[in-house]
Parts: sequence; structure tokens; C-alpha cells
Amino acid sequence: MINEVEWHVDGHRILLNINKTNIDIAPSICPHGNSEDAPCYHEGISGCMVNYFINVFGLECNIGTVPAESSLEIAWATVEDNKWEIDLVDLCVIPVTDPYFVDWFSEVSSD
Ligand SMILES: [Zn+2]
Repeated sequence: MINEVEWHVDGHRILLNINKTNIDIAPSICPHGNSEDAPCYHEGISGCMVNYFINVFGLECNIGTVPAESSLEIAWATVEDNKWEIDLVDLCVIPVTDPYFVDWFSEVSSD
């Protein structure tokens, strides 16, 4: 599945707040600042899809291994896409430090 979608590695980050047994997830940081020509911009919400999914689903949309770091750069991809209806979009994220992702990404970027 990781090979079938287009991963965006563009500097989105999430902030994790780890306190003992709980991990609170803060809204992601969008490097594009919700600009309309950014790949993460969604017409239906007039903003960043990555932020939206992190806000709504938290780490449920993460498919990788999350290291216990407070600031985590993530790659993101849309598995299902719809330009107008955010409810029809399925987006997932993966930490760029995930070992599986690192292997795959170094392979595709060396082509
Ligand atoms: Zn964004």
C-alpha cells in the first residue's frame, strides 16, 4: 500500500505532548500556511487537510511507528481523494523516521 500512493514529504509536523501514560497530540504545523495552491489545501474546509485529519482523528491516521519525540516530521498521502468533500477523503500520515518509510523513501528518491 505504501507504494501505491503519492507521499508528500514537505515539512508537516505534529507535536506530541507525552505525560506519563497519555499522549496528547497537538494540531499539525502546516509549512504552507493553508495557502490555496498547496498540495494539502482542501476546498471543502478551506484549509490544510493534514491539519484537519490530525485534529479529527489524531494518531489513528498514522500508519507508522511513532517515536516518543515531542516534535515529529510526518509524510502524508491521500488514499482516497475528493476535491470538494472532505468526508470522502482518506488521508494517512507516517513519521519520516519510520524505518520502513526511510527504506522506501531512499529507494524512490534515488531513482
Ligand atoms: Zn498543510
